Amino acid sequence: METVEVFTTEEKGRGLKAAKEFWAGDVIFAERAYAAVVFDSLTHLVCHTCFKRHEKLHRCGQCKFAHYCDRTCQKDAWVNHKNECAAIKKHGKAPNENIRLAARIMWRIEREGGGLTEGCLVSIDSLQNHVEHFGEEEKKEMRIDVESFLEFWPTGSKQFGMQFISHILGVINCNGFTLSDQRGLQAVGVGIFPNLCLVNHDCWPNCTVIFNNGNHEAVRSLFHTQMRIELRALGKISVGDELTVSYVDFLNVSEERRQQLKKQYYFDCTCEHCQKGIKDDLMLAVKDGEGKPSSDVVKEVIQFSKDTLEKIDKARSEGIYHEVVKLCRACLAKQEPVLGDTNIYMLRILSILSEVLSYLQLVEEAAGYAKRMVDGYLKLYHPNNAQLGMALMRAGVTHWHAGLIEAGHGMICKAYAILLVTHGSTHPITKDLEAMRVQSEMELRMFQQNEFMYYKMREAALQNQQIQIMPEPTNEISPGIFQKKQ
Ligand SMILES: [Zn+2]
Ligand SMILES: [Zn+2]
Ligand SMILES: [Zn+2]
Repeated sequence: METVEVFTTEEKGRGLKAAKEFWAGDVIFAERAYAAVVFDSLTHLVCHTCFKRHEKLHRCGQCKFAHYCDRTCQKDAWVNHKNECAAIKKHGKAPNENIRLAARIMWRIEREGGGLTEGCLVSIDSLQNHVEHFGEEEKKEMRIDVESFLEFWPTGSKQFGMQFISHILGVINCNGFTLSDQRGLQAVGVGIFPNLCLVNHDCWPNCTVIFNNGNHEAVRSLFHTQMRIELRALGKISVGDELTVSYVDFLNVSEERRQQLKKQYYFDCTCEHCQKGIKDDLMLAVKDGEGKPSSDVVKEVIQFSKDTLEKIDKARSEGIYHEVVKLCRACLAKQEPVLGDTNIYMLRILSILSEVLSYLQLVEEAAGYAKRMVDGYLKLYHPNNAQLGMALMRAGVTHWHAGLIEAGHGMICKAYAILLVTHGSTHPITKDLEAMRVQSEMELRMFQQNEFMYYKMREAALQNQQIQIMPEPTNEISPGIFQKKQ
């Protein structure tokens, strides 16, 4: 870890700064999880070692709880699963994800001691737990968790004091990092990455953190890589600059971001974008020029949008997509005469509408909304924001499916350029995108040479081929990077 340096300030506590110069896409450090677990609801669908989603997983014959891709993942897991396996068998069932994660941390401390482990800039003992900021409700939950932990924890393992158990549960509560599946579509687990915990927040950060499931298939080859997070530079970083990531999505006005950060992470954001309210005006933009709406009308439309978004969430979680489309269209009709193109309430509706319409295979209509969404995003997000890259990728694919090959290819290229920085060239999503870029480029060339032939070919291809279905829309609002129990 010669690339970074720990420092301490009065206001923000510990932080990390660059010990050398970095450029966009540079990996500042990669870090393996100190401990990680799969979410309770997905334990039989996701590999407990690499967190990839698989159709068919092998089950641990002993506890019948852990699941793995193959022997390689199972072998890799044993050092962390051994104690857990025996404890689950004895306990009769597996406890919840927080308890499982706490137990994995404790067993690791039992094996290696509590001090600094290799490659770590900070020990688990000295991570922040924020237990002193807990309200009544959180304290109650904590007590329940401590009890469940003690019920699960075997008498034969090293015994820890109540205070230390609370500390570990507090650390998990505010520092647990969300792990996603190999396509980045779903949050599937939670892990503790001590070095990452040292990276402070900024709403307009100079780094991003990405989870990489690794490549287990290529055992003993040059391409074999382990599950890890990577801290990547979003632009040029000079020696001595503080390294920052954003804990929350940027697409909220500064006041709301500050509230969210206070509630989840117990600090007041003093970043430049919050202090100056940079881009707040764009995020709340109102139609300009003739017939400018009164502030009362604007207020009413915003309230209507908030209410509709709640109804949409409900319909979407129940999978009633036609209802979602109906609600979105009605909301958009109200918003269009009043709100500006970059207004976040309109962008939220456009995002849901285009995603759901794509899923319902109404791709032409979806493409129009997706275009408006990414045009708005491009004015709001940092040019190398990972969420912007993912949105451009989805919009590009939608355009491509709709036969809008020029626009589609353009968006896919833009997305690819961003993901090379935020995810790196070996990430499975970037690889998918690379394949799409090559394919759509070929089609575009064909289109430019002979439009008639292109449409003929496309028609034939569509007739002989199952249309590629977009993933089912998830109800997950992009989570904060650190998993916090809601
Ligand atoms: Zn695996
Ligand atoms: Zn087992
Ligand atoms: Zn901020």
